[in-house]
Amino acid sequence: MQLPREVIVGKGTLQRIPEVVKRLGLKGPALIVAGKKSYEIAGKTVRDLLEQTGIAVDMLLVQTATIRDVLTIEERITEWKPQVLFGVGGGTKIDATKLSGAHQEIPYISVPTTVSHDGIASPLASLKGLGKPYSIMAQAPLAIIADTEAIAQAPWRSVVSGCGDVMAKFTAVKDWKLAHIKKNEYYGEYAASLALMSAKLVAQNVEVMREGNEEGARVLLEALISCGVAMSIAGSSRPCSGSEHLFSHALDMFKGSQGMHGEQCGVGTIIIAYLYGENWKRIRETLKRLGAPTTARELGAKDEEVVRALDFASTIRPDRYTILQKLNLSYEECTKAAKATQIIS
Ligand SMILES: [Zn+2]
Repeated sequence: MQLPREVIVGKGTLQRIPEVVKRLGLKGPALIVAGKKSYEIAGKTVRDLLEQTGIAVDMLLVQTATIRDVLTIEERITEWKPQVLFGVGGGTKIDATKLSGAHQEIPYISVPTTVSHDGIASPLASLKGLGKPYSIMAQAPLAIIADTEAIAQAPWRSVVSGCGDVMAKFTAVKDWKLAHIKKNEYYGEYAASLALMSAKLVAQNVEVMREGNEEGARVLLEALISCGVAMSIAGSSRPCSGSEHLFSHALDMFKGSQGMHGEQCGVGTIIIAYLYGENWKRIRETLKRLGAPTTARELGAKDEEVVRALDFASTIRPDRYTILQKLNLSYEECTKAAKATQIIS
């Protein structure tokens, strides 16, 4: 079990980088991986602060998170021989950093500049071009330094998406438990509770999730970090990713939606909660109050794409037992469920 040694969340926490590297005994050199925008928002500050403490810093800008980006970072690691990596940005930059670091056995520090999904703190990386639409195990961050001031500069939509990704834990945990009962899969009560508690906390704090309210960003950050820790404890994405995620991956594969990851997972959570006979209306209501999409149209998807994604979802990851495998729905039954939950008309 790998867990972060330092988690610092709040206003202006970037300034605490010198103290964190000192406590962790890091003397450098360091390699910062960032996007163009995230370098401006936070990467530059990270670089200045590290250099002030006498740590040699190299910097690499990446645009996407493909296997080619990972290999580029790995090449730079081989040349520069850093003691630590800093992943500065949204999910993609951090994912590329954690995976290249894992391959080269170099720890990384996560410096998120958006809160659109739980990858900012998880040990898993989601990359394009691996032939798998879902995440693979990489490494947990050595530390997480989340500055709410930097995050406040990200589009509000990314916060809404992050909330959707946290709401997904309601059904992810149910799928995990189901796999435990039906397939005797390992189930960790502690990891499951941590993921579930994060979802409950976000649902209870809908009122503070308002644009420009730093308290909202903090609640969401803590929830996302707890989800990351839950995955570290479980040793897999199980507590945080169930059939609602498979639905989102299917939408991505068909390119049938304009939605962000967390937005798609939120809609998936409504429909999977319905299939479980759970209170799907409450989940839908919470998402609506957050301003998150609850219909195919709001995702920018066609009705039939949503049905096709639900129908296809269970085949993406046959090793991951979920309610979709248990029910083995026909296309007509998928249509019925999407209609019943008002996701399609
Ligand atoms: Zn997710």
